[in-house]
Amino acid sequence: MNGQHTPQSFDRVLSSMCTEPHPAARTAAERFLATNPGDPATYGTVAELESRAVDLLCTVVDHPAGGPEHGYLTSGGTEANLQAVRAARNLASGDDVNVVAPESAHFSFRKAAAMLEVELRTVPLDRDHRADPEAVSAAVDENTALVVGVAGSTEYGRVDPIPDLCAIAHEADARMHVDAAWGGFVLPFRDVSWTFADAPIDTMTIDPHKFGRAVVPAGGLVVREPATLDALAIETPYLETHAQATVTGTRSGAGVAGAVAAMEELWPDGYRETAARCQRNAEWLAAAFSDRGYEVVDPSLPIVAASITTPTFEKLRSAGWKIARTERGELRIVCMPHVTRDALEAFLADLDRIAGSNGKRRRADG
Ligand SMILES: *Cc1c(COP(=O)(O)O)cnc(C)c1O
Repeated sequence: MNGQHTPQSFDRVLSSMCTEPHPAARTAAERFLATNPGDPATYGTVAELESRAVDLLCTVVDHPAGGPEHGYLTSGGTEANLQAVRAARNLASGDDVNVVAPESAHFSFRKAAAMLEVELRTVPLDRDHRADPEAVSAAVDENTALVVGVAGSTEYGRVDPIPDLCAIAHEADARMHVDAAWGGFVLPFRDVSWTFADAPIDTMTIDPHKFGRAVVPAGGLVVREPATLDALAIETPYLETHAQATVTGTRSGAGVAGAVAAMEELWPDGYRETAARCQRNAEWLAAAFSDRGYEVVDPSLPIVAASITTPTFEKLRSAGWKIARTERGELRIVCMPHVTRDALEAFLADLDRIAGSNGKRRRADG
C-alpha cells in the first residue's frame, strides 16, 4: 500500500446510495485512469467505451431507438439533473421559466434552479410519499419548461406516477424528466412504469455509480431526441471535435470504463439477482423494526425508514454505524449490494443493546 491512508470499509455503511464497485469495474477503471472522454479525438478508445455505455444505458431504460447519440456519462446524478433543467430552459420559448417537481425531488434540483436562475416549484406528495398529479397539475402554467418525476426517491424509494406526470407536462408544452439516479438498476425488474417505453418522457437520469456497481464518477443522462444534446452544446475552438454538450471539460475515463465493465458483467441477470437480494434484506429489516415496535415506512424499493429516537441514533453512530436520517428524522437504511444480512443482524444487536428493546415483541417465527 502506498501511504498510510486507507479508505473506509463498507462493513458499517448503511445509509449510502453508493456501494462497493464490481471487481470488473474496479479493474477497468484502473486501466483507464489516464484517459479523458472529454477529448474524443485524442482519447479514442475511451470515447468508444462511452458510446457503448450510453447504448447499454438505453437498453436498461428501454429507449425506443438506442445508440450513443442519446446521452453521455455525467459526473453523477447532480450533473444529469442540472443538464435536464438546462436543456428544458434552453428549449423553452420565454425567459421566465419554471420547473415543477415533487417535494421528494433530490436537492440537486435546487442547485440546478439556483445556477440556471429558474424558479423551482416543489409540490406536496400524496400519503404514500409519491408525487400527486393534481398538485403537479395545479402548479404547472404556461411558463413551465420542465416537470420532474422521481423513480426511486432518495428518502423512501418511491416511484412517482410517471405516465400521468408526463401527460400533464406535455399538455402544458413542457418537457418531462425522470430522475432514476438511484432506482434505475433496480426498477427494470419491477412492475412499474418509469422508462422511455412506458411514457413519452424526454430525459432521464440514471447513475451507474449507484445501484449499477460502477466506480465513482459515473452518472448518466439519457435523452429521447439527440436534439436535446444539441440544445446543450457549445462550440469548442481548441478541440478537434467541434461541440461539447457536457458541463465538465476533462472527464473521468475511469468512470466510463468502470460503467461499461459493470454493465457488461451484470446486465441483466446480475442486476436482477442483486435487486432481489437487496429487496429481501429491506423487507426482512422492516419486519425486524416493526417487531420491535418501531414505526416503519414500507420499503417498496430497498430503503427502510424507521422512527428511532435521536439519542438512540446518536449512540448507533458512536458505535461506528454510518447511518443518516430523513428530513422527518427517521433512521434511513439503504440496502445497497454491500449491505449483507450479517451486517444488518449486527446492527440490530447494537440497536437492542442501546435501546433496550432486546427483541421484545419479536414474532415467534422471527
Ligand atoms: C443520488 C441521487 C442524485 C444525485 O446524484 P449524485 O451522483 O450524488 O450527483 C440525484 N437524484 C437522486 C434520486 C439520487 O438518488
